[in-house]
Amino acid sequence: MREILFLEPVFKQRIWGGERLRDAFGYDIPGNDTGEAWAVSAHAQGDCRIKGGTYGGMTLGTLWKENRELFGNLEGNEFPLLVKIIDAREDLSIQVHPDNDYARLHENGALGKCECWYILDCDEGADIVVGHNAKSKEELKQMIAEGRFMDLIKIRPLKKGDFFQIEPGTVHAIRHGTVLLETQQSSDVTYRLYDYDRLQDGKPRALHIDKSIDVISCPYAESGTGTEKTETDGCKKERLVSCQFYTVEKWDMEAETLLEQKYPFLILDVIEGKGQIDGHVVKKGDHMILPSGYGTCFLNGTMSVIMSHV
Ligand code: ZN
Repeated sequence: MREILFLEPVFKQRIWGGERLRDAFGYDIPGNDTGEAWAVSAHAQGDCRIKGGTYGGMTLGTLWKENRELFGNLEGNEFPLLVKIIDAREDLSIQVHPDNDYARLHENGALGKCECWYILDCDEGADIVVGHNAKSKEELKQMIAEGRFMDLIKIRPLKKGDFFQIEPGTVHAIRHGTVLLETQQSSDVTYRLYDYDRLQDGKPRALHIDKSIDVISCPYAESGTGTEKTETDGCKKERLVSCQFYTVEKWDMEAETLLEQKYPFLILDVIEGKGQIDGHVVKKGDHMILPSGYGTCFLNGTMSVIMSHV
């Protein structure tokens, strides 16, 4: 079982997408409006293929169904995590996600969505929407009814390296000029609250006002991400978040670093630099999974890696 699973991203063209997934990551994108690279996904809307090795050509979804031992025999219908890189050339709509209970009831048993963002790059003066200003559900309904969306949303200044945890029920939106890595529950359920009155093919995109009002938490409470930092032998490790759905860390290394894979599976996303992982050459934009029972792994080189597990 000591075999690393290297993954091929699945690309999604979006009206708000751009070209930075090619320019900054070297991906062979399908067009100049590519908004998302689903880098580690077993979701039906974008199931990543394994590159090379024993399982080469198979999808992560198939491995999850047929080789559950690779994932520590975890239970559940869905591989639990999804990692994306998002390039927003334009603003995304203002949106909110349900939690597991609401999604199960209202979305045919789908998972809810808790997600988190690590900002890989952004333009000078970029900002992002996290949270809202309504003090109660009543005030929320009133502000929505009056169309006061720009008063409602909390817009925050943004810089490279920022990190946000987006709990279900949090109003949020990625804005133009932002490239980020998103780690999330494997779900595609999004309720669109406001789309800046934009038109797509001459028509506004559908909004989901009632469901949004149902699921938005009031008042908004800041999520503690409480980063925990340690530094040993040329490697800075930072725990970005640990919640009931995932734990996400960032490691910045400059020398040989030892990694113990003791989880059901461990996802590695190389976000900067290049190096080797147990002799395999890896670089910015590569994504892989160390399966269950992998044990000790040697990382070499000068690179930054986001690691995530359940
Ligand atoms: Zn979202």
